[in-house]
Amino acid sequence: KLAGRECKEKTIVKVGNVEIGGDELVIIAGPCAIESEKQLIETAMAVKKAGAQILRGGAFKPRTSPYSFQGLGEEGLKYLHHAGQENNMPVISEVMDPRDIDMLDKYVDIFQIGSRNMQNYSLLREVGKGRKPVMLKRGMSASIEEWLSAAEYIVLEGNRDVILCERGIRTFENYTRNTLDLMAVPIIKQLSHFPIIVDPSHGTGREELVASASRAAVAIGAHGLMIEVHPCPCDALSDGVQSLDFEKFQSLSKDLFTIRNCL
Ligand code: PEP
Ligand code: MN
Repeated sequence: KLAGRECKEKTIVKVGNVEIGGDELVIIAGPCAIESEKQLIETAMAVKKAGAQILRGGAFKPRTSPYSFQGLGEEGLKYLHHAGQENNMPVISEVMDPRDIDMLDKYVDIFQIGSRNMQNYSLLREVGKGRKPVMLKRGMSASIEEWLSAAEYIVLEGNRDVILCERGIRTFENYTRNTLDLMAVPIIKQLSHFPIIVDPSHGTGREELVASASRAAVAIGAHGLMIEVHPCPCDALSDGVQSLDFEKFQSLSKDLFTIRNCL
């Protein structure tokens, strides 16, 4: 199998001057959803200053309720592209529909496949036909084997730049939004050559747990993290309860690079 460890050396995904899966810890940060140009520019500058290398921002949001904020669409992607260029950061955003791929391709450096679409095989095949790196989030009810099989759909079409992202799974525990499966990190490193990063924001659903989850993720060997950051989490249009403000993000990110350097 193409996603399996046996056929290949460790994959290092290069995007701009960032390498995911190499020696350096990679932090992807930014708001859950792009809300305005001002919100995004401010966040980009703050996370860049704190050491994040890649900027995130959702323009198409897979919200549980169709009445919740759905994202700014292409307008938001323009802000994302601009904020990335201004701060010399590659950018990532979720694609939910194969019909949007060509449009997103103009603005993003990495395609994000969300948890809800991990087994959307036609979407996986389409991003697999392209050249841009794909970050495949684990389905909230997917086993590790199912997740790697989903990655196989992308690789089979020719695109070998896949990044896996553990974002928590559904269990009986409902204190946290999801149960972050940190064991997936060493397991993926055993089974696959792809980089593995951790999303502690969706993985916990609680801002006060994000730092602990992040530190543990780095200690257990994650190649990177994806963290939601907002200028004013209380006013966020989505996922405010799990988003860090600039100050908390800055102090966390400092800790994470320190932990990584101790390994
Ligand atoms: C996200 O990262 O914006 C997101 C919606 O996460 P998930 O697909 O893991 O729920
Ligand atoms: Mn979110």
